Amino acid sequence: MPYRYECREGPCQFLVRSSSADEVERLVRAHVRMVHHGRIDPADLERWMERIEPVPAPETANN
Ligand SMILES: [Zn+2]
Repeated sequence: MPYRYECREGPCQFLVRSSSADEVERLVRAHVRMVHHGRIDPADLERWMERIEPVPAPETANN
């Protein structure tokens, strides 16, 4: 299941997407540490991590 996280720090455009929540968490932590010199609250991480619903394949029109 794909997960997505968008950084909320000001104008930061950081966006990470992965099929693994663990990987998203690891990348976000690394990003916040390196770019914002801080740490992310696990509660914030959970709150802002989105689960992307799989997009249904378009049905073939039959007319
Ligand atoms: Zn950021």
